[in-house]
Amino acid sequence: MTTEIMPAQNLPQIKGVKDVPYEELFVSGHRTCQGCESALVMRHMVKASGPRTIVLGSTGCMYVANTTYYTTPWVVPWMHTQLGASGSAALGTAAGLKVLMRKGKLKNEKINVIAFCGDGGGADMGIGAISATLTHKDYNCLVLLYDNESYANTDIQLSSQTPYGAVTTFSPSGDKKRLMHTRWKKNVPGMLAAGHPESRYIAAGCAAYAVDLMNKIRKALELGGPTFVHTLDPCPKGWDYHPQYSQELGHLAVETGIWPLYEVIDGVCNLTGPTRQIAEGRKKRKPVYEYLKRQGRFAHFIDEDVEHFQAEVDKMWTDWLIPGVIPFTVPAKDVAILKIDKKPVHEQAPAAGPAPAAHQKTA
Ligand code: SF4
Ligand code: MG
Repeated sequence: MTTEIMPAQNLPQIKGVKDVPYEELFVSGHRTCQGCESALVMRHMVKASGPRTIVLGSTGCMYVANTTYYTTPWVVPWMHTQLGASGSAALGTAAGLKVLMRKGKLKNEKINVIAFCGDGGGADMGIGAISATLTHKDYNCLVLLYDNESYANTDIQLSSQTPYGAVTTFSPSGDKKRLMHTRWKKNVPGMLAAGHPESRYIAAGCAAYAVDLMNKIRKALELGGPTFVHTLDPCPKGWDYHPQYSQELGHLAVETGIWPLYEVIDGVCNLTGPTRQIAEGRKKRKPVYEYLKRQGRFAHFIDEDVEHFQAEVDKMWTDWLIPGVIPFTVPAKDVAILKIDKKPVHEQAPAAGPAPAAHQKTA
């Protein structure tokens, strides 16, 4: 059986807003809430990928609200897939296309396969299938996780992406217990990047930085193999704010350092946008309070909750091996470990240590 990779798309990087394609492939006809940033992610996603794209949507807001009563905003072919199945749907579709092209039943051409999932479908239920897909380097497919930090489609239940302390229908704030949810958000793109060295592209983006996001989608599709992009999407309904502030909240999530923008290309991590400016000291991180106070889901926070939130975000920037990406590091006494000899084995100097025993010496 042949294992060659299908040709990947030729999608040049977008230099600025004037360079963004005019063509819309996600149009009117959807029923997402006013100010829905996830809908904007869908729009940017297909604008970047172009018309030769198949979109697969697992159950969630972006499936249900986009395919109601025989209406749809998708101009490209799309298909519904099961909740939790974005990884397997992406891989299966890429494999099916490859077989049909090999058998001559489809013209051999570049077709993008993008499967999207929400945080419930991707970070919770579907993480196993996404992980498996990222190890199958013979197939070109992108999994895009649009993260509105709750099971928004079924009325804002808690997910592993819900931030510390936020109110959801499963974590109301009460007189006896102010904070029902006290777990820190699961670091999905960092985890996938660290654990899937054969995936050529894994990134974190936000639709508030549209060109950055579109370029990440393009890079993922152009590099080929199984790839992954995670977006943070302000959701007026779940986060409880006026819909006109979605973009502003996207900016604040990045500017406070809560949601770092980055991409890992062939194992090399590049911080992008304001995240890079913060890391280089060209921009100051804003206090998390500026982000939290804008949202009703944090309205019950008292000073100590804000301080805890700030301390955890500070830790991401001061203690993590790569700020906001790789959380672990080594103890100060072992810092030499980070300076490990990176030469190939046959070029490495012999380790310092006791001389070999006499019987090991060769003449
Ligand atoms: Fe968009 Fe949130 Fe409304 Fe779902 S609930 S359609 S994610 S704004
Ligand atoms: Mg969600």
